[in-house]
Amino acid sequence: MSFKYPPDIDLRRLLHFESDSGSIWLGDRRMVLMHTNALAALRQDLMSSVGPEHARRILTRMGYASGLSDAEYAKKMRPGESLQDSFMVGPQLHMLEGGARVTPFKLKFDIQAGQFYGEFRWDNSWEAYAHRQKFGQVDDPACWTLQGYASGYTSAFMGRLILFKETLCAACGADHCQIIGRPIEEWPDGEAHRVYFSDDSLMDKMEALQSQVEALKSTLEPISHGGKLIGTSTAFRKAYTLMQKAAQTQVTVLLTGETGVGKERFARALHELSTRAAAPFIAVNCAALPSELVEAELFGVEKGAYTGAHAARAGRFERADGGTLLLDEVGELPLAAQAKLLRVLQEGEIERVGGEKTLKVNVRLVAATNVDLEQAVLAGRFRRDLMYRLNVYPICIPPLRERKSDIEHLAQGMLVRFCALHSKRVLGFEERALRALQQHDWPGNVRELENLVERGVILAAQAGMVEVEHLFPNQPDAVQTSLNAHGHLARLPSVQDDELSARILDSGSSLDEIEGRVLDHAVARARGNLSEAARLLGLTRPQLAYRQKQRQSSAVPAPAADLKSEPGAL
Ligand SMILES: [Zn+2]
Repeated sequence: MSFKYPPDIDLRRLLHFESDSGSIWLGDRRMVLMHTNALAALRQDLMSSVGPEHARRILTRMGYASGLSDAEYAKKMRPGESLQDSFMVGPQLHMLEGGARVTPFKLKFDIQAGQFYGEFRWDNSWEAYAHRQKFGQVDDPACWTLQGYASGYTSAFMGRLILFKETLCAACGADHCQIIGRPIEEWPDGEAHRVYFSDDSLMDKMEALQSQVEALKSTLEPISHGGKLIGTSTAFRKAYTLMQKAAQTQVTVLLTGETGVGKERFARALHELSTRAAAPFIAVNCAALPSELVEAELFGVEKGAYTGAHAARAGRFERADGGTLLLDEVGELPLAAQAKLLRVLQEGEIERVGGEKTLKVNVRLVAATNVDLEQAVLAGRFRRDLMYRLNVYPICIPPLRERKSDIEHLAQGMLVRFCALHSKRVLGFEERALRALQQHDWPGNVRELENLVERGVILAAQAGMVEVEHLFPNQPDAVQTSLNAHGHLARLPSVQDDELSARILDSGSSLDEIEGRVLDHAVARARGNLSEAARLLGLTRPQLAYRQKQRQSSAVPAPAADLKSEPGAL
């Protein structure tokens, strides 16, 4: 019986050489090209240092791990095709990766029933060759990583442990190798081979259990995290320490920072670390309140104070009594409300709209803003006396791009949270996805990261990994070169590219200048339409806006205040 492989162009497309970044990728997995000479030397060292039995175990497990990894692609590369074609992803990848030429002889399986029987022939096994090179002709089969690969791949594909054994091996003098695979229970000596794989299945179980526990924990945990915020970067720790110190006092705190840096979370943590933790935490977004209702919302209203005030109502100050009140986007408060707020801060008393008596309130005020209040004062939009009153203890929360070492930790925390929220089991982030997160500019800061991770969790396969495409679905592929159908590298830099680069170098311009010119050119070509310009450049609109801001801030000596007063990028 002969089997025909489906075309492997889909698998070749997974392979990318990124020489600029010094990486090779198979889909989302980082690969490495290794010399078989080096692997043969490693094999020899292992044999002499830990003995043949352990060496075999280590190498088999290495192959097993590769096979497990490649089985991920069987699940997703050939949707809608026959199960047999899906299975062939393994042997075809094994060939593409240079293991051996794999020819299937017999293949029968039924995933539901857990039945499997397979016979394959291997020609040109690199491992048989390397083994013979070091040890000459041997009595026992020696293609351990290859055999581990076949077992790992098939076990993951079938969802049960399938053991492959070599019945013929080129290391023993045959002109090719031959393998047979079946469920481990069906081999008379199967149990003796379990030692090669058993730890892995244990690890899988542990991992599954652990992620269940994590998911459970995050469902049980209230939204409050006891003042815990994630971050170990210097910039973040500095802000956090300031906040911790303020928590012990009653001081009014002003939180500054770009849109999306997590000001409300900081305010909440401050509340939870303070002696007021048992009392209410009330947050108001001043920009979201209609200006005619601001005062009623903040200070309360008496019945009949204005048309529509059918009943007396407590304001946010009253509701926060004993606790903490966050006034977010405080820079957006109308001037009349600012005057009233100032009086409340001075007297510690409020007066409801339409009311005559005053009420004592005990509230710690936390104000937050992403505009520069000093600038707002100069523009006549904010009272100077109120600014001084609020700006007693300012804490600036750093933008995400200044605390990149926190990104992975933050993203992992969000992943666990969103897995619980969306009832999904996602194992983690692929390496390329993590790298893309590191390289992104984050104009929308932690909130943008949160949105991306949530989308990633939703798009990732059940029990799969979050891949770069799940996070940045519209991003053009960063791939530089890949293998074409003939196995040659495609899309190498063209002569024109080289000439262009040479002309740029000869012009003596700096990279920043060139970036600036390209940005300007794109904006001009898009006739000032920034979304269109961003599309031309392969950027998102916030990324383009961010780059433009960066250029302005490095061109003019002190324009930081101007830039901050622009609305955030989200
Ligand atoms: Zn062999």
